[in-house]
Amino acid sequence: MARYTEAVCHLCRRQGEKLFLKGERCFSPKCAIEQRNNPPGQHTARRRKVSERGLQLREKQKARWTYGVLERQFRRHYQEAARRPGATGENLLQELELRLDNVVYRLGFADSRAQARQIVQHGHIALNGRKTNIPSARVKTGNVVSWVPASMDTEYFKAVTHGIASKAVPSWLSLDMAQMAGRILTAPSRQDIDVRVNEQAIVEWYSR
Ligand code: SF4
Repeated sequence: MARYTEAVCHLCRRQGEKLFLKGERCFSPKCAIEQRNNPPGQHTARRRKVSERGLQLREKQKARWTYGVLERQFRRHYQEAARRPGATGENLLQELELRLDNVVYRLGFADSRAQARQIVQHGHIALNGRKTNIPSARVKTGNVVSWVPASMDTEYFKAVTHGIASKAVPSWLSLDMAQMAGRILTAPSRQDIDVRVNEQAIVEWYSR
């Protein structure tokens, strides 16, 4: 399965802001944005003026990198969002939030979306009781995301259960800590999504 393989801190430096792609490191002084917030490459100390089109592209890339989605799949999410009634920008963020890998991350089962994606791909997660290894699987209201019983014996699982109480779960999800299972209570609204992205600019990018 295709995935992004470049050093992810470059993506934050290119955007000039934190995209929180690396879990705990993003909150530490080791974060590349804390250390040198200039674009990667030579002679990039000063940022150039960006056109409107460039700003739209930047917002699209920011959303894509934040959720760890490649271009073709991101476009598919956009097409699905545009097909649905309501505001396309908000629909798009909802589509991205309802990906299985994102829900695993939001439930606190992983420190980053990249890690959540790996956990899903390695077959540790069940959706409605069935092992699912597709990170882009779309969850629906009422669905239950849990661990595969065999994975509950791993050191990783023990570490997750140890730290789970300190993690905040968004209001559109509920977490049963005893069972280590989460339920989707409702689709998230824009206010529930803490990703700093201008979704309208993304709509304009695709509407040219
Ligand atoms: Fe971005 Fe996190 Fe790297 Fe900081 S540590 S630059 S927030 S991915």
